[in-house]
This record gives sequence, C-alpha cells and structure tokens, in this order.
Amino acid sequence: MSFHVIYKAPCGLCLRNMGEIQNYLFQTHCDFIFLEMFCLDPYVLVDRPFQPQRPFYYIPDITSGKEDIPLSCVNEIDTTPPPNVKYSKERIPEDGVFINTSSDFLVGCDCTDGCQDKSKCSCHQLTLQASGCTPGGQINQNAGYSYKRLEECLPTGIYECNKRCKCSGHMCTNRLVQHGLQVRLQLFKTQNKGWGIRCLDDIAKGSFVCIYAGEKHTARSDTSRLQR
Ligand SMILES: [Zn+2]
Ligand SMILES: [Zn+2]
Repeated sequence: MSFHVIYKAPCGLCLRNMGEIQNYLFQTHCDFIFLEMFCLDPYVLVDRPFQPQRPFYYIPDITSGKEDIPLSCVNEIDTTPPPNVKYSKERIPEDGVFINTSSDFLVGCDCTDGCQDKSKCSCHQLTLQASGCTPGGQINQNAGYSYKRLEECLPTGIYECNKRCKCSGHMCTNRLVQHGLQVRLQLFKTQNKGWGIRCLDDIAKGSFVCIYAGEKHTARSDTSRLQR
C-alpha cells in the first residue's frame, strides 16, 4: 500500500509537493510558517515525540533562552548534572584566530523571487562553483539546498544569502543555517558513553539540525594546550 502526504491551505488549496508549498508560501507572503517545517515523507512521524523515562535530573533549557527553541537536558541514569558547559551560539575566536564577519567581504544577489530561480541567483552559483574545487574539478549541478534540504553531503560548503542580498530574509530559499536551531534537541546521559545529544522529534532526511560553534584555536594554541 502506498500513501501520500498532502497539506491543505486555509483557502482549501491542496499542496501536493514541495514546489507547490514553496509557491504558496511565496504568494501569500507568509512570514511565520517556513518551507523547512513541511515534510512529505509519510515515514516521518511528525506527531510522535520522543518521551524520556522519568529523569533523575532535568533542566528545561541549557541555552538560557539564547536559542529560539529550548534545548533540554535529562539524566535518566543517575543524579549527576552535565559538565559545567557554557552554551554559545557563536564561534569564539581564541588567541591568534581571526574570523572575518565584516559585511564589506560579502557579495549579494539581486533576486526578487525568493532565490527560487537558482540559475539567476549569484549566491547559489557560488555554491555550484565551489563544488568544482574537489579532485577531478567537476561542478556538481545538484549542489546546494533543494527545498531547504540537503540531498547529499557537500564538503565545499554552501553560500547562503546574506544582508547584502536583495532577497527577503523570510522568503529566500537559500537561507537556512543563519536562522539557527529549529528542532527540539536534548542533551542526555547515556549508560556507558558519557553525554549525548538527540532529537525529540522525527526529522526529514536532509534537514538542517545545528551548527558546531565553539572556541576556535589555531594549531599552535591547540598544541600548547596539550603540553600544559
Ligand atoms: Zn538570490
Ligand atoms: Zn536569497
């Protein structure tokens, strides 16, 4: 038996695929529901959240409100709290590391269609060009987001739209990671392997989960740390 997921808009319109959903959101200028919230895979169980056992230790939000969505912490094994971790959304440059975040070093696209026409979006074209910087030098024409999902691993990275682009932050289909954590993660104590992280909901294949943000060290400062 095969079955399909469809979404029904308040006006009664049936949205049968990601293209139709994208068009609908763009035409209605919807600014509170986004493409990445939709999933048409019937095997993704969106209404069955994971319920932990009765925990001995529980923190509702280890980010203290730094994220839009709380990141809880549970210990179902014993009563010990997690190691004293200072949560950070940002990369923290340590001695000798310079992270250039100046907008003078950004280039932007001129799209007004939410960057849907990838052939005209100069940001998307940068993602394609970079995909050729691998052994063999073949440009991967499928590189980048497809309806806010990543179909395959892309080691050369993605050039998302930015504050220099003409597209709107809400409507652009080439902005995902910059919107930050959107899924319900949970820090939990494992039986034998220390602390781990899990997602409390089923998530669609290729969805963005979170970034790795931590202290950035140079190779030299890492070595001196080891020697200490
Ligand atoms: Zn664009
Ligand atoms: Zn854009």
